[in-house]
Amino acid sequence: MVDNNTDHNNADHNTPDTPDNHRHLETYVHDTLTSLKHSSPAQTEFYQAAEEVLECLRPLFKRCPHYLEHNIIERIVEPERQIMFRICWADDNGKAQVNKGYRVQFNSALGPYKGGLRFHPSVTSGTIKFLGFEQIFKNALTGLPLGGGKGGSNFDPKGKSDAEIMRFCQAYMTELYRHIGPTQDVPAGDIGVGAREVGYLYGQYKRITGRYEGILTGKGLEWGGSIGRKEATGYGAVYFAQNMLKARRETIEGKTCLVSGAGNVAIYTIEKLLELGAKPITCSDSGGTLHDPEGIDLALLKDIKEVKRTSLEDYLTARPDARYITAADYPGEEGHAVWHIKADIAFPCATQNELTAVDAEALLKNGVDCVSEGANMPSTADAINRFLDAGIAYGPGKAANAGGVATSQLEMAQNNSMEQWPLEKVDDKLKAIMADIHEQCAETAAEFDEPTNLVLGANIAGFRRVADAMIDHGIV
Ligand code: NDP
Repeated sequence: MVDNNTDHNNADHNTPDTPDNHRHLETYVHDTLTSLKHSSPAQTEFYQAAEEVLECLRPLFKRCPHYLEHNIIERIVEPERQIMFRICWADDNGKAQVNKGYRVQFNSALGPYKGGLRFHPSVTSGTIKFLGFEQIFKNALTGLPLGGGKGGSNFDPKGKSDAEIMRFCQAYMTELYRHIGPTQDVPAGDIGVGAREVGYLYGQYKRITGRYEGILTGKGLEWGGSIGRKEATGYGAVYFAQNMLKARRETIEGKTCLVSGAGNVAIYTIEKLLELGAKPITCSDSGGTLHDPEGIDLALLKDIKEVKRTSLEDYLTARPDARYITAADYPGEEGHAVWHIKADIAFPCATQNELTAVDAEALLKNGVDCVSEGANMPSTADAINRFLDAGIAYGPGKAANAGGVATSQLEMAQNNSMEQWPLEKVDDKLKAIMADIHEQCAETAAEFDEPTNLVLGANIAGFRRVADAMIDHGIV
């Protein structure tokens, strides 16, 4: 019988480190991962995310076995609810098109489900599950009242007209509206979902329900959006890097930086780096890597990606000395060109598994000693191990990119009080939250005798907050 009144704050039932207990823990983690593979076939990204978290939790379970007694692991890897739906929409020729839609409401122990929507042809239920799982711990690290969720579709926005994007968003919301609400589930943007898409989604919600309420974040500034939300994920990843560097008595000023991606997160990472006197020299899109040794021209980048929405290659028209490196220029090479350019700091801001062990070795060889992840799970497990073995400052996505969701919560707070805060207030709060996340990760890592391992720190600190709330709520 489980004692639901366990005082988890004082739960220091250190399990003796006997071979039997060690074996029990090994079997437990192994069995849980095996059973996930049986119950959720072919969700490799989800296993990758789950394995990283479970491996990091071993030392916690040794000290606090009550988490195992409460079966928190079996409960936390299972989404509370998964919604899958058909999205039918008419293209510009009047032809019916069909896509898959998803929303995973993973864990609501700490607050309403919160997490973005991704529109990309590669999206499967496993992608959304991995992102939703990561979101639980990321949201917990912010210290704010946010549960974890994620959604999206295999819809490909590339090459679609504005009217097609609008009709697709309307069709998506026509199904989703019944599952979301300001205290229930509040989606935001992610890959393929920016200000334009959030606008169409919000308009359709309002049309169907007649309610003007904060059911999405990343909204336009004239209709409920927070100043600073668009910039928050990128700015936050840079603030996180600053915190990691400060702990090593270094600064970001004058550092040469590699950034991947050329979307929302990458652009505002580059903006903050330039503001702080660092020199971002790369960005990338699905076609290739742009390398401008003089430093990325931010206005030009924004014009190409935010206004014209074309390829990064167009950058070369205005800056002929830059290079656009495509797969054809990089034949037979393992890894990704962006990580093989010499620099001091790396900011992966595109997508999952975009930085492999080969890339990690190239970064280390070239002297990179700080990696701050703007994207979700951009580094493979082998790449992470290389960084940890080398002892560099490595900030995992669930900590380093939490500034976006934290500022989404600030948007929710502004919606609830019908206020709009100035940029200074939002940015000050963002800086404080990123410093606090770094401190939690570093202190937790030190508590478990691995002071430079922020992956361990982030996973244990995030997990503890969620697990303690789940225990308080009983078996539900
Ligand atoms: P965007 O859609 O704005 O930009 C994504 C960028 O990454 C684009 O330049 C895109 O290239 C590139 N990209 C996407 N998929 C691939 C791929 N398979 N191979 C190569 N390049 C690719 O998305 P965001 O900037 O919002 O998101 C980027 C990352 O940050 C994601 O991992 C997301 O989950 C994470 N994140 C985002 C947050 C946010 O607030 N937006 C919050 C926290 C994390 P192209 O233009 O050619 O498609």
